Amino acid sequence: MNEQITADAINAAGHLTIGGCDSIELAKEYGTPLVVYDVSRIRSQIRAFKRVFEENQVDYAVSYASKAFSAVAMYQVIKQEGGHVDVVSGGEMYTALKAGFSLENASFHGNNKSYDELVLAVKNHIGVVVVDNFHEIELLGQVAEELDAHVNVMLRITPGISAHTNKYIQTGQVDSKFGFDLESGQADQALEKVLANPRFNVIGLHAHIGSQIFEVAGFEGVANKLVSVADHWQKKFGYQAKVINVGGGFGIRYTKDDTPLPPEDFVDAIIKAIKKAVEPTDLGTPAIWIEPGRSIAGPAGYNLYTVGSRKDLPGLKPYVTIDGGMGDNIRPALYEAEYETVLASDPQAPLKEHVRIAGKYCESGDILSYDQELPETKPGDVLAMLDTGAYGYSMASNYNRNPRPAVVFAEDGQSQLVIKRESYEDLVHLDQPYELHD
Ligand SMILES: *Cc1c(COP(=O)(O)O)cnc(C)c1O
Repeated sequence: MNEQITADAINAAGHLTIGGCDSIELAKEYGTPLVVYDVSRIRSQIRAFKRVFEENQVDYAVSYASKAFSAVAMYQVIKQEGGHVDVVSGGEMYTALKAGFSLENASFHGNNKSYDELVLAVKNHIGVVVVDNFHEIELLGQVAEELDAHVNVMLRITPGISAHTNKYIQTGQVDSKFGFDLESGQADQALEKVLANPRFNVIGLHAHIGSQIFEVAGFEGVANKLVSVADHWQKKFGYQAKVINVGGGFGIRYTKDDTPLPPEDFVDAIIKAIKKAVEPTDLGTPAIWIEPGRSIAGPAGYNLYTVGSRKDLPGLKPYVTIDGGMGDNIRPALYEAEYETVLASDPQAPLKEHVRIAGKYCESGDILSYDQELPETKPGDVLAMLDTGAYGYSMASNYNRNPRPAVVFAEDGQSQLVIKRESYEDLVHLDQPYELHD
């Protein structure tokens, strides 16, 4: 049996349960493809992160990187759990505001924030703008002036540390589109510029070294680097950083080949590294911020699909095709990401064959899994793909004009639709007829 399915996630009927709800019933009630979140897992991960900080008595923020899964309901849950959020666009800010999430608890990231986005952020009293480049320093200065506002800012630096992970999702190496470079003196120049603007309150510095990181060493490295930069800034400019933000990227288990530490163990290592690094300096213990996205949304999510056609080839793994694919989960095609999948009606059924789980989209690369061992399956069976909660729905598209799936939150045995399934009408909603010239 799949080791990720615990005994308490199987009900008397032998079906997989999610948040106490029968997955087969969910598929019947809401249709497939369906994205289901076990809300208690979102909550427990946020609480686990917070507990480490509280036990260590340091000032902190657990800022959920909402690009992993952004929806009104998600911001509501994060708010209820006392979390901060990272936002990276006007759309994410708008969605948070719709959820009643105060942007005072939000950090605004991005390497090309537009004038309009900065206006939206500043008008709504954004908690902090994580400034990425020189153009943004000018633009944000202009916006603050026009709105007669004061803005908290933090500088994003590229620490020159690369996380040993999939190269497509690395952002911390020196040659990165994100942040100010240290070696060439850009970061110092940027600090001088933001300090010189009386409309900016410079609260600290930030780095994000990548994603799906399994090694504590990467975070210890970034923590040490940020402290050494803060120390250098204090000595050179008399500037005292109040916040050290080490970003996100805490790895999660997708398949049995992934063996990450519990995400909260990373936090423990980060706190220890920062406390040790500041000892010989005059910095004191700064507030420590983290930005987990995947580790909060990923393990809480399940994608339910219905099996349709099948293609058998002599000597090759069969294609078992489901009613979704790259439109609801682009990660396998984009990053060669892997997942584990179980038969929702009987996750304990004896495994019979290795198959490829194919999507229904018109791309040969639309394969969700290249090797999944499954029991015998037939058309109409429901498959549950595990740990799909991060960067799945949030990257969904309407390729082939397929409607995007519905999203359901399940908790304490009750389910609620939180994003409706798109209809065909929704798909043509923005289309305008072309006035043909005769
Ligand atoms: C994407 C991102 C994160 C979250 O990364 P995860 O791998 O989802 O934890 C955190 N901080 C920044 C700046 C990001 O861009």
